[in-house]
Amino acid sequence: MCGIVGVRSERGVRLSRVVSVLQGLQHRGQEASGFVGITTDGREVGFKDVGLVSEVFRRYGADPLLKVAVAHTRYSTQGESYRPENVQPFVGFIGERLLALVHNGNLTNYPQLKAELQRDGVILRSTSDSEVILLLYARESGAPEERIRRLTSKVEGAWTVLMIDGDRLLAFRDPYGFRPLWMGREGDEVWFASEDSALRSAEIDVVEEVGIGEGYVVDGRVRKFGVGVKVPLPCSFELVYFARPDSNLFGRSVYEWRLRAGEVLAEVDSLEADVVVPVPDSGTIYAIGYARRSGIPFQMGLIRSHYVGRSFIQPSQDVRRRTVRAKLFPVPFVLKGRRVVLIDDSLVRGTTMREIVRMVRDAGAKEVHVRIGSPPVISPCYFGIDTPTREELAASRMDTARIGEFIEADSILYLPLSRFREALPNFCVSCFTGEYAVKVPSDVRV
Ligand code: SF4
Repeated sequence: MCGIVGVRSERGVRLSRVVSVLQGLQHRGQEASGFVGITTDGREVGFKDVGLVSEVFRRYGADPLLKVAVAHTRYSTQGESYRPENVQPFVGFIGERLLALVHNGNLTNYPQLKAELQRDGVILRSTSDSEVILLLYARESGAPEERIRRLTSKVEGAWTVLMIDGDRLLAFRDPYGFRPLWMGREGDEVWFASEDSALRSAEIDVVEEVGIGEGYVVDGRVRKFGVGVKVPLPCSFELVYFARPDSNLFGRSVYEWRLRAGEVLAEVDSLEADVVVPVPDSGTIYAIGYARRSGIPFQMGLIRSHYVGRSFIQPSQDVRRRTVRAKLFPVPFVLKGRRVVLIDDSLVRGTTMREIVRMVRDAGAKEVHVRIGSPPVISPCYFGIDTPTREELAASRMDTARIGEFIEADSILYLPLSRFREALPNFCVSCFTGEYAVKVPSDVRV
């Protein structure tokens, strides 16, 4: 998962403004970030490095006036974590013409595409699938729309892309629409960002969600074009966990989705308890919905430090475990002697939740009942979210009762898969079902 931003303006936009939009997408990736742009006086500029958006751009230290720019905040899926050559944007040239690319998603036929390029003598400078999109674009001919349509027929999987080609800005989503993209405008500035909330919080007017299989070329004008729709498969996990709750994605309010899922969870539950406690921030809106429907009072029994990163997107298991203790603090006043309903959005490995259950019990809770606002994750994602291998997924090797024991909870309940699927008929739910509508080659499967 990554956050991407692009802008084009004849009058120019300060880099600091691009950074403020990118910071609104920090939750989508915390490993590295960067930008490439062309200034209003024609200079090519760029910088990328590991670290949070604010750290990386402080290191850069300048604030050029940009005619066109793309920027990225990284969370690794394809390619290894923290390899500097995998940090985006990727840059290339057609003659003297600058190409720069940022990508959110994951190509399922990357090994095959890479082998084909290498057979043709192309030297790859990274282990990232995003570079392959740039190379394929550069090898095509014709107008940007034509190049994009032709590369679309070659790549499989998930790709939402922003590109610079000369001084044009290009934006396009794959024919399945796995990853989101929004368009905004402010004066003569044309903006694209992964989530509308990032545009709104930078006071940019939101125009529309870029459709599945749709693209834009922005030069002096704005032209929309189609790359075709195969099967609509926007990622349901964006609604469940990844997106900001104040975002709208795939025609839905993320907040509303989580609130309703919490209510449904309460509807299918018959638990008697004293207090509903979210795992903040990911479980908070689910817990509000659960409390509202069950009538059990909602309390913040865990306080989150906002100075420590999200545990799910930290690259190693050990870092993740220590991060949990460093970022969540139990409130004995709420928990002591109580029967607690502990709510989170999802349960992936189970190790984080076990740590939290222990913490809640240590704070004096009499019972700890875990409720999860999505179905069991039983299968890896190959479309841009770094879920672990099948063996590491709690629900792929244990039934629900055994997971309850593993996380040391008094009981556990998930949102039923049938209700989830019913509410999201045209979404990807592969990690919850193990059925992949898009072919995943055996050499990619984990
Ligand atoms: S497999 Fe899961 S995480 Fe991956 S795109 Fe589909 S719903 Fe999203």
